Amino acid sequence: MGNMATQYVDLHTHSTASDGTLTPTQLVNSAQAAGLVGLALTDHDSGNGLLEARAQAQKIGLRFVPGIEISAEYPHPGTMHILGYYIDPLSPGLKRMSDILLEGRDNRNPRIIARLNELGCRITLEQVQAIARRGSADGRAIVLGRPHIAQAMVDAGCVSSVKQAFDVYLGTTGTAYFDKERLTPRQALECIHAAGGLAVLAHPTQLRTENPAQLQHVIANLVEAGLDGIEAWHSDHRPQDSQLFLELARRYNLITTGGSDFHGTPKPDIALGLGRDNVRVPVEYLDRLEQAWNLQRARQATELPT
Ligand code: AMP
Ligand code: ZN
Ligand code: FE
Ligand code: FE
Repeated sequence: MGNMATQYVDLHTHSTASDGTLTPTQLVNSAQAAGLVGLALTDHDSGNGLLEARAQAQKIGLRFVPGIEISAEYPHPGTMHILGYYIDPLSPGLKRMSDILLEGRDNRNPRIIARLNELGCRITLEQVQAIARRGSADGRAIVLGRPHIAQAMVDAGCVSSVKQAFDVYLGTTGTAYFDKERLTPRQALECIHAAGGLAVLAHPTQLRTENPAQLQHVIANLVEAGLDGIEAWHSDHRPQDSQLFLELARRYNLITTGGSDFHGTPKPDIALGLGRDNVRVPVEYLDRLEQAWNLQRARQATELPT
């Protein structure tokens, strides 16, 4: 037998259960078509796509990790996203967390839309909801995000592209930006653990820390609050970024993960399993993630009062 070719996975993706444009089933099929052997679905604030994705992955023989991506409080212009891996799709902990996060969105979206109306872009919440519903088969709570608002703005002719919508209006420095209520980082980690998962700091570049020492300080605080890992490989990362995150993970004894942050058409330059041609995550990352989760479960089982 010759050398086994390296096998790859993608541990950061979005579906129509949040602001991606492929359904969970389509996403799983696309992962296999792209030659991947494993996939994590990490929709924003919602686990609504997980059962469908898991069923399809089982059907076609793709390894699957149920996940989520949540936003935590962090000073602008940075953003802190925490990935939860191996969360239990049916756990009360996931439902509690998701309800809190969706309420934060429900409070924010009408404010953004009202401001856009004031600024002369006449879109409605109903139009945005219709965009979010495309492709999501059921009537469960939908995760309305800025990408959906951006698409409504394009459809209405207010802007020429999603990018322009973010640059001028919806980005953190845009004229129609409003923050949403978020969990503190500690709450985010606790919620992920309560839902049975491992907590991983997503795309640390988006924290926009000014130097490695500052980043290390943020990570040290998260570790103290229970952080399990760092996303080392991501579409936004340059090679030197990934090297720094791998080094920090070693220093704090954290697991490392990687993924493209695939969304489909809202981010046409990002390919499943490849990112901007800078993401290739060997299956060993998935093996180590699974091992860490098994360890955590064993630890929790022995910690339970008898
Ligand atoms: P939200 O969850 O509503 O705050 O929106 C977050 C989503 O908006 C994520 O998918 C981001 O990747 C996306 N996003 C943030 N900034 C931009 C940008 N400048 N251009 C395109 N998408 C963006
Ligand atoms: Zn997104
Ligand atoms: Fe993110
Ligand atoms: Fe993401």
